[in-house]
Amino acid sequence: MNVLVINAGSSSLKYQLMNPETGDVSAKGLCERIYIDGRLTHKVGDKKVEKEIAMPSHSEAIQAVLSILVDPVDGVIKSVDEIDAVGHRVLHGGMEFSESCIINDDVIKAIKKCIPLGPLHNPANLMGIEACQAVMPNTPQVAVFDTAFHMTMPPKAYRYAIPAEYYENDDIRRYGFHGTSHKYIARRAAALIGKTEFKMINCHLGNGSSLSAVKNGKCMDTSMGLSPLAGVPMGTRSGDIDACVVQFICNKYNMSVDDCLNMLNKKSGVLALSGVSSDFRDLEAGAANGNQDCVLALEKFYYEVAKYIGAYTAALNGIDVLTFTAGVGENGRDTRKAICEYLGFMGVKIDEEKNMVRGKEILISTPDSKVQVWVIPTNEELMIAQDTAELVNAAK
Ligand code: ADP
Repeated sequence: MNVLVINAGSSSLKYQLMNPETGDVSAKGLCERIYIDGRLTHKVGDKKVEKEIAMPSHSEAIQAVLSILVDPVDGVIKSVDEIDAVGHRVLHGGMEFSESCIINDDVIKAIKKCIPLGPLHNPANLMGIEACQAVMPNTPQVAVFDTAFHMTMPPKAYRYAIPAEYYENDDIRRYGFHGTSHKYIARRAAALIGKTEFKMINCHLGNGSSLSAVKNGKCMDTSMGLSPLAGVPMGTRSGDIDACVVQFICNKYNMSVDDCLNMLNKKSGVLALSGVSSDFRDLEAGAANGNQDCVLALEKFYYEVAKYIGAYTAALNGIDVLTFTAGVGENGRDTRKAICEYLGFMGVKIDEEKNMVRGKEILISTPDSKVQVWVIPTNEELMIAQDTAELVNAAK
């Protein structure tokens, strides 16, 4: 089976053509500068092709992707009919979606209803869906939501302690993000330890970071909230912050709430604390050269992640497994070591030699550690392709 996985942003569109059973990717690429001019980067194995193609809308971008996929030289399939289904990443499923689903008119309406919750991403995701429907009207399309995995959280985890009318009238609550990654890691962890009933915390640490507490494969709590701004500090996002900080800054600097939120989303996090970079490799290099601001940025990150792990360990009444994934979680040896050092009180012990790994699936805890600690590379595209294949096969 061939599934085309699409992740449409406001001016970009990423794609992968993959086999959901084996995870083999036959081609992948990126359309950029949609609405500006248009550039396509297409990769098959190690071969990379770059083309300037006019992309006045997402429709031309999808058309360019399909054309290159069937191109006699750079393509990997003979005809578009060889694409059995399309899986779309959708940011916000609101309270409408607790799992992936086959797209029909009602689903499109419900995704539109979630636009106020995901004002930047949902319209772009919809453009990707509508563009695919227009050029491949007979191919089944599936929507996979970043929020869906977290819909099993109990009310005590998802409700904010604010007047009920905002929840009842406006759906304001914790949703959580990176759900496709958290779900993939929870499934992989179950396969690796050979159990389905266990308690785990997954640390998705990348440019954006979130943690989730998972019991028997179901999400019980997660660190992001109504938006991806909440939780631990990130590359450029502040993470959790006292709401009065916004009021103070807006009043003192005559700033709009939108501008202040832009600052909290794009100019904060470890970038702001270090004054150097949002990239952990730069922070580690800075810290190694004695830059104390880089040291503080890293220490703050380790500390806040460890605090969430402590909180979720209490919430779950103990854990069996701790997993690290995404750019920093998979590659940041110093980060994993520093976080695990906080967790000695709960019997976490890692093997320093095994922890030297980057980007590989491996158990890094010692045999006598009370918690198994794993590094598991995430694969959101594979999760999207698998959900898509499962739904499309079930509907046959
Ligand atoms: P995104 O949230 O954009 O998907 P990723 O999961 O790709 O981000 O993570 C990107 C981050 O991973 C980079 O900003 C960088 O800080 C971190 N990273 C990548 N390689 C390493 C490494 N070798 N050591 C430490 N951090 C790394």
